[in-house]
Amino acid sequence: MLQTILPERVTRLNDNELDDRIRAAREKLGRRLVILGHHYQRDEVIKFADVRGDSFKLAQWAANRKEAEYIVFCGVHFMAESADILSADYQKVVLPDMSAGCSMADMAALDQVETCWEDLSRVTTGKIIPITYMNSAASIKAFCGRHGGAVCTSSNAPAVMRWALERGDRILFLPDQHLGRNTGYALGLRLEEMPVWDPYEELGGNPEEVLNNSRVVLWKGHCSVHQRFLPLHVAQVRSRYPGIRVIAHPECRFEVVQLADESGSTEHIIKCLTQSPAGTKWAVGTEIHLVNRLMKENPERFIIPIDDCGCLCSTMFRNDPQHLLWSLENLVEGRVVNQIKVDSEVAANARIALSQMLEISARK
Ligand code: SF4
Repeated sequence: MLQTILPERVTRLNDNELDDRIRAAREKLGRRLVILGHHYQRDEVIKFADVRGDSFKLAQWAANRKEAEYIVFCGVHFMAESADILSADYQKVVLPDMSAGCSMADMAALDQVETCWEDLSRVTTGKIIPITYMNSAASIKAFCGRHGGAVCTSSNAPAVMRWALERGDRILFLPDQHLGRNTGYALGLRLEEMPVWDPYEELGGNPEEVLNNSRVVLWKGHCSVHQRFLPLHVAQVRSRYPGIRVIAHPECRFEVVQLADESGSTEHIIKCLTQSPAGTKWAVGTEIHLVNRLMKENPERFIIPIDDCGCLCSTMFRNDPQHLLWSLENLVEGRVVNQIKVDSEVAANARIALSQMLEISARK
């Protein structure tokens, strides 16, 4: 994805000028515009969001705002794709900086997944159901739709995996090995039943027998932010702050989630922290912008990241106020820049996998 080169008339503005111009552009666009802010987005940008949330909640929310002609998604590429898939044809989705991608989503390319599917179907017996995490490209969601599978979020992954295990002999779980492993283990599967598929190795790097005995084949993908948290960090934070509670996102490594007191999606983390009694101490394993915001908004609780560096989602960070302003001012002028448009056939198949997820969630 190409990085947008901004004109000097935008890059030379100071912070106050940027804020004023963003506010003015928003006002001109009125109800024709919605700005979506993912929880991991930087403060200078999220303050302009009409709504904050995780990617699926934001895409659904925008699709229901029928008067919104423009949906500016301050998130990453796959999130904007999901918004386009769920929105009406007249709604145009804009990503302020086209280079705001997701390292995890980029780890599963369609041709690699198709090769894996052919190989798995050849060497194993029984039915395989593909499940992809929301954090994947539209083409991967469409693949799951075409092959009788579903999408899942970090909140509904247990329900979706249970559904698939009841109907099939094994799951191909894409693209986050950690979410797949953490969820499968919580559902009672053994680690040996969940081999990892490395797309750069013959048969994913597994003997046929291992694949045949598997219940979940985990794609070798990960989030570069959450994978940085290590068991050592949990041990250090516990010894420094006796009594601290550790909460980790399920995109974290298995060993970290096992050591944590709690694990769950961003929405679950927010709920746990905000509903805990005043004075509770928390070490949080997720992206640093969300942790910092939780710290500021909950002064009556002690909240810190699990590790000292506090890793940021560097690609989401590319959506800065300058790119937001540039995309909004172009919309004011009637030019739609950085539009994310998913091919109609891909979108139709991806919707099948998304609808399957919604159906499973509704049954819970
Ligand atoms: S935090 Fe990780 S999974 Fe989420 S958008 Fe960034 S790289 Fe992707």
